[in-house]
Amino acid sequence: MCRGASFQVADNLAETRDISTLRIPDDLKPRDGRFGSGPSKTRNASLEALIKSSTSYLGTSHRQSTVKSQVGRVRQGLKELFGLDDGYEIVLGNGGSTAFWEIAVCGLIERRSQHLVFGEFSSKFAQSAKACPHIEDPQIIESPVGAHPFAVAADDIDVYALTHNETSTGVSMEIARPDGATGLVVVDATSAAGGLRFRPSECDVYYFAPQKCFGGDGGLWLSAMSPAAIERANKLCKDSRRWVPAFLDLSIAIENSLVDQTYNTPSLTTILMLAEQVDWMNQNGGMSFSSGRCDRSAEILYTWAQSSKYATPFVSDPAMRSHVVGTIDFDDSIDASQIAKVLRSNGIVDTEPYRKLGRNQLRIAMFPNVDPEDIELLTQAIDWVAERL
Ligand SMILES: *Cc1c(COP(=O)(O)O)cnc(C)c1O
Repeated sequence: MCRGASFQVADNLAETRDISTLRIPDDLKPRDGRFGSGPSKTRNASLEALIKSSTSYLGTSHRQSTVKSQVGRVRQGLKELFGLDDGYEIVLGNGGSTAFWEIAVCGLIERRSQHLVFGEFSSKFAQSAKACPHIEDPQIIESPVGAHPFAVAADDIDVYALTHNETSTGVSMEIARPDGATGLVVVDATSAAGGLRFRPSECDVYYFAPQKCFGGDGGLWLSAMSPAAIERANKLCKDSRRWVPAFLDLSIAIENSLVDQTYNTPSLTTILMLAEQVDWMNQNGGMSFSSGRCDRSAEILYTWAQSSKYATPFVSDPAMRSHVVGTIDFDDSIDASQIAKVLRSNGIVDTEPYRKLGRNQLRIAMFPNVDPEDIELLTQAIDWVAERL
């Protein structure tokens, strides 16, 4: 018996020395190993549509109807998906969500903005506002990572900058106008749009990019804008004496979007893949379908973590736990980076935590393209690896 036990220890030691040889059994492996928070898992059907259209669409002018009709398809499809009221418009341009922060600083913030800062992305927009010479220093309301602060209406605030889903920490917040606020509510929905529900009437600007819930490619920003937001953009970019570079001029972007174009050349690949994805969501039941998939994945992931001996959801308040990006802490007995490494060598990629968060954690995207059954298999694969570290 003693001899058996010592053999067991020796076996474990051998495995510890070289975890790169650990082969996760096939029946515990997700069918698709992409769990990254952006760029995220794409659907093959979107790519097939691209290939099918290649000679008639790729390599053709974005000023002609072939491409314009795809931009129109994206704009119409998103209006339907979000259930936008009349007067709201889908506006788009080049540069991704990061470009939109500079666009907002030029064309949405009139004098002073309020920022809820609870992670890397929300902090970056606040920094853009702070660096901008033509507006006042922003008001920043911060909370420790793992939770989110709440907006507070104030007379001198004309933009409330919220983040629907803070991708760096896995915290999501409900989108609501602060009581008594007169300013515009401007929401970074980059990783939330298409996966988390929201009421369009609760915000004026809901901006995002295609490489998260929409499983497309990066490089584009899109924004659902209320009539008040459109009016603000036109006032600041066209009618005021403020200098706004044309590339960051939201009024020019609006003008182009209304005729299904962009100010300069967009990636046609990105646009077609997005159009395909939005149609897929709408044809299967819209937001209740796509967010329902995220809800199911989140339930599987968090239920597993809560009953695990070594894993816990990082976000302690269940109401703030994101259903699109899950962050799972591991206790000291398990090195999460080793798990991520073994997963990666088995073709299960991008489960590493946000680099600047520096926690013993895995971060798992549960965007609509991710099959909830694959989340289930992923938890089994993690357990299998953890038992062998
Ligand atoms: C990914 C992300 C961004 C940055 O998007 P880019 O298109 O790369 O500029 C901004 N905000 C949030 C919340 C994100 O998840």
